[in-house]
Amino acid sequence: MSEINRMPVVGRFAPSPSGRMHLGNVFTAVLSWLSVKSRGGVWVLRIEDLDPMRSKRVFSEMIEEDLLWLGLEWDEGGLDDRGLHGPYSQSGRGGLYEAALHKLDSLGITYPCYCTRGELMATNAPHQSDGRRVYGGSCRPPYLGGTMTPTMDRAVRATRLFVPDETIIFEDGIFGATHVDLGSEVGDFVLRRGDGAWAYQLAVVVDDAEMGVTEVMRGFDLLQSSAQQIYLYRLLGYDVPEFVHLPLICNRDGQRLSKRDGSLNMEALRRYYKAEDLLGRIGYMAGLLDKPERVSLNQLKEIYDVARLPRTERICV
Ligand code: GLU
Repeated sequence: MSEINRMPVVGRFAPSPSGRMHLGNVFTAVLSWLSVKSRGGVWVLRIEDLDPMRSKRVFSEMIEEDLLWLGLEWDEGGLDDRGLHGPYSQSGRGGLYEAALHKLDSLGITYPCYCTRGELMATNAPHQSDGRRVYGGSCRPPYLGGTMTPTMDRAVRATRLFVPDETIIFEDGIFGATHVDLGSEVGDFVLRRGDGAWAYQLAVVVDDAEMGVTEVMRGFDLLQSSAQQIYLYRLLGYDVPEFVHLPLICNRDGQRLSKRDGSLNMEALRRYYKAEDLLGRIGYMAGLLDKPERVSLNQLKEIYDVARLPRTERICV
């Protein structure tokens, strides 16, 4: 066996503790666990509590409790920081993000952005396809091809990363070859807000890399983010993991489930289902079962096959 084949698979589930998990979150949790455990790998639970206004410890506790109710045990991470790569909550990892930002600063590709939210809305039209706004580069300094000179007169609202006109191409485990043009589809993106809050894109790369994650499995909404993250992996000198993006779970009206919408959150699901019934429903949604029948996590693990996962952006339930 080659050296590469002997590398352990390390996957992760990285919930934001801003509410009770819903069926979509649990779908991702179960599949990332199956993907890793069907290959004897390590499953990490990382708490993505970067946003101090929305993150609450009580939600992290509920996430852990709901995962355990399903039988999803993590090998590393969680609130008690099991493992060698802690802390496993992003709120405790600022020093690592600081070091990464410092490295990017030293490459001369970051700059202060003074734009207020209102200015960003006014000057950057939302993309037709997904409503994202691509930053037009109004605060880019001359050494990065822009016209803005740093000023003391205005408050710094964010630190941005310069992106070149380059297409990032990667192979998604479900969607295959994916092309994202950094210049026209992403634009210079935020690494840190003026109030000190770290941006998800930077934090997730530092965390996945430092935690030795080899497979990132998550929702389809983050497909384009993977290109931003691959760009950061390269700049920071980290190995790029495999990416697998799962369909988003939607309600009957075709809207993506949110933590605010209570009908399919874990509180309701646990009232109606036993764990093995819910696993059966998830196995069926994932194309692993022909019908939604009771099944154990171990049975699902035996039949798990990434090739059977649906190649669709949404599953409406
Ligand atoms: N924290 C993100 C969420 O809960 C997931 C980020 C990721 O998996 O990269 O949606």
